[in-house]
Amino acid sequence: MPLRDLQGQEAGVEQLRRAWQHDRVPHALLFTGPEGVGKRTAALALAQVLNCREPRVDDACGECLSCRKIAAGNHPDVRCLEPDGAHLKIGQIREDLQHDAVLKPLEGRRKVYLLDPAESLTPEAANSLLKILEEPPETVVLILISAQPFALLDTIRSRCQEIRFFPLPALRLAPWLQGKLGISAEDALALARLSGGRPAEALHMSEPEAREFRARVLGWAFAGRERTWSVWAKDLGAEPEEVTEAFGVLLSWYRDLLLLAHRASRELLLNVDHAEKMPPALADETPETLLAKCRALLAARDQLSRNVNTQWVLEVLGLALAPAA
Ligand SMILES: [Zn+2]
Repeated sequence: MPLRDLQGQEAGVEQLRRAWQHDRVPHALLFTGPEGVGKRTAALALAQVLNCREPRVDDACGECLSCRKIAAGNHPDVRCLEPDGAHLKIGQIREDLQHDAVLKPLEGRRKVYLLDPAESLTPEAANSLLKILEEPPETVVLILISAQPFALLDTIRSRCQEIRFFPLPALRLAPWLQGKLGISAEDALALARLSGGRPAEALHMSEPEAREFRARVLGWAFAGRERTWSVWAKDLGAEPEEVTEAFGVLLSWYRDLLLLAHRASRELLLNVDHAEKMPPALADETPETLLAKCRALLAARDQLSRNVNTQWVLEVLGLALAPAA
């Protein structure tokens, strides 16, 4: 996808476009911003414009063989380094980057390496990368992608030009989703809000499995007083990603109820497609109990990110979410 097709991100795209037009694309870039806002898409768009065979004045053509290969992920000069297990390891940096970067491009003009996510670099791998950043080969462009740039070494960050990416306003994202997915304006707006203005996240949430998962998690919250939170942990399974996603769904639900309890505008609600279930759910709650549940969910999410035992986190959370006797 060429730069012109990126949603929002005008400032970042303009920075990249100007750098390319003046032949001043830095050897090391750091794309930062929340997950799902288009960092990787922008990195590939930059790789296209750098290697396009028939570039326009301000962008890649998006259609030549080079552009198509990059979009398909099989251009020999554009590589994406991803974690092997949980980390980007030193072996990957040495073999896939250091040894490869000194070779001439095979088909294109520039060799482009994406490191995604850059914060997954082990300390050894980061130090090895630092050596390349100190003296990058002429044809090389490194693009570090990170939603947690504060976790990177300062020495690495300081050698990269940072380009920031932001979530989109829901009213801006919704029409794009509507066109792309062929859904109603109402559903598109709900999706745009639920995704927090992140296009990739919205597309993910529109998939049948993701929709089924959200309905299932919200079902636990709808079950009201009869619900036993002690069994939900078993239903959920132990995959940390899945549990984190469930926490996000529940957090959006209790946040909505809290807003309603404070008589906030319905415009602010996220789960608009389940709005009819909110008033009955609210009957069992007070602003205090809702706030406590939101806090318990945030604490649980934090514990999960610090590798606290998933089952233990779920059990404690189950107690916090149980209706008052
Ligand atoms: Zn092209």
